[in-house]
Amino acid sequence: MDQLQKARQEMDRASIIEATQQTVSAGVENGPYVVERGALSRVGAYLQLDRRVLILTDDGVPPVYAETVAEACSYPVILTYPQGEDTKSFEVLADVAAVMLEHGFTRTDCVVAVGGGVIGDLAGFAAAIFMRGIDFYNIPTTLLAQVDSSIGGKTAINHEGIKNCVGAFYQPKKVVIDPNVLSTLPPRQISNGMAEAIKMALTCDRELFEKIEAGNPMDMLDEIILSSLRIKKSVVDRDATEKSLRRVLNFGHTLGHGIESQASLRDGDRALYHGECVSLGMLCMCAPEVRDRLIPVLRKAGLPTETDVDIDASLSAVSHDKKMDGSRINYVYCPEVGSFEFRSASLEEFAEVVKESGAY
Ligand code: MG
Repeated sequence: MDQLQKARQEMDRASIIEATQQTVSAGVENGPYVVERGALSRVGAYLQLDRRVLILTDDGVPPVYAETVAEACSYPVILTYPQGEDTKSFEVLADVAAVMLEHGFTRTDCVVAVGGGVIGDLAGFAAAIFMRGIDFYNIPTTLLAQVDSSIGGKTAINHEGIKNCVGAFYQPKKVVIDPNVLSTLPPRQISNGMAEAIKMALTCDRELFEKIEAGNPMDMLDEIILSSLRIKKSVVDRDATEKSLRRVLNFGHTLGHGIESQASLRDGDRALYHGECVSLGMLCMCAPEVRDRLIPVLRKAGLPTETDVDIDASLSAVSHDKKMDGSRINYVYCPEVGSFEFRSASLEEFAEVVKESGAY
């Protein structure tokens, strides 16, 4: 890496850390983001709902959440789709548009997502393209969506078996994060979101990582949500369209996606969640001293630190990953807690880093 590149990385790192130290307190609005226990029941105070409102949710979300939003609207329409990735499709998108036309939605009406990442992605993309863009509100109901997918304006559907290949960057008008809704979430789903929070702490916020290290992550959900939001927001504000800095959020994801492509072929409970694959991916991408500290933190958060997923098959999936830049793989490495480096390697060199880490 040349000197200039190194200096730029150093500046980026310093500016993220500075931004993450600015406080966002609970209940206080930070740009379009509101984090507040009980916010769902006061949603009318945060969103402009005196118009036609399409509320998108799925059958894995307690229906009372969408109904609570509907009660605050003058003209609500609730659409409930099956839980899972298959809902992010052209068929469903066409259905959403048809329902909006049927109910006379115009450019001044809006879409509200009430659900996890799948519903947020679908609803955001529907809002982005209906009448060339109408207001989009997001009420994420999973920890993963609250700390990660609801922030940054990525929206998409899947097509021809390729994840997120049709989509847009489209910023929500408001994101209402109510940690109370997490009380109905299964523990494994909490862990799934925790993986992304740990990822952000490990690369960008040493203080947060040390707090998680010293305490119980399950007892500090509010703080973890606020800190993750602050970190992710400061990264995407600097690089909205993932040209450079935003790549830090891919820490653990390069190999993680490779593992995910293998693990998703498994049935039922043996399939791994995204956050679980990211956890496994992070373990090989950090210095040995960092890994020694990461392992107990992942365990505490209910995340895996070893796997029987075939690592060679995962590596060959990595070579097909979209992050391949010509013949090289770009990845993020964590040399010490609260820090990161962008690295580039051939597939062979990357495989060596993974294997030398001794994580598998
Ligand atoms: Mg992720």
